[in-house]
Amino acid sequence: MRILLDNFSKSFGSTKVIENMNLEVAHGEMLALLGPSGCGKSTTLFAVCGIHRPTGGRILFGDRDVTDLPSQARNVGVVFQSYALYPHMTVAENIGFPLKVKGTASADIRKEVDSIAGLVQIGNLMGRRPSELSGGQQQRVALARALIRKPDVLLLDEPLANLDAKLRLEMRSEIRRIQRETGITAILVTHDQVEAMSMCDRIAIMKEGEIVQIATPAEMYNDPRTAFVAGFLGNPP
Ligand code: ADP
Ligand code: MG
Repeated sequence: MRILLDNFSKSFGSTKVIENMNLEVAHGEMLALLGPSGCGKSTTLFAVCGIHRPTGGRILFGDRDVTDLPSQARNVGVVFQSYALYPHMTVAENIGFPLKVKGTASADIRKEVDSIAGLVQIGNLMGRRPSELSGGQQQRVALARALIRKPDVLLLDEPLANLDAKLRLEMRSEIRRIQRETGITAILVTHDQVEAMSMCDRIAIMKEGEIVQIATPAEMYNDPRTAFVAGFLGNPP
């Protein structure tokens, strides 16, 4: 579902982090918010997912204004850098938990869990606990749990940051495959330009709370609008 940030602003006390940001993520698109640490990527994502309330502007999913809705009412799937799986639950219980909270019947939960486990390819791990999984496996579980309620949008904040180099590479293409197969609209927050380039349809590059350029990876690489963009992409003029 299309995501629209319309004049979005966010301050913490007197600190203005984002001012009047406009951004549209098309239905089915995967967009990267790319920029150095502290530029406001997570702040923006948290506002989209409903953890932070904007101090100005609106956030729309499709035509629905969700600005004042709490996270639970927005139908978003979220994966953060730390997987935050429930350690005492099995993989199957972790994945099914959002449906259990909703009051879904156990037989239906089981069916949905099986189907999503197939999608993220962890059908063989259902009885294990998080401590018995590798980082990549834990991240697949977190993805499955984020997707189980068939959210309108998927929000990923540095989802690969805790993985070693080999797993990071594998999970790049896995997350992209899953996003394509589900057709879900997604925002990926990252400070890693290669990740953004290899995983996303378009990149919005941020500096100090502003989007300085928004383009496809190829456009951005071939025609960086500013020295900052060029430098950040490792392709200085
Ligand atoms: P990024 O995700 O791009 O690294 P963040 O969005 O986390 O950056 O942070 C952007 C800026 O907003 C930083 O200067 C940070 O210190 C500030 N900030 C983020 N969250 C809070 C908060 N809860 N209270 C005060 N300042 C915050
Ligand atoms: Mg961040």
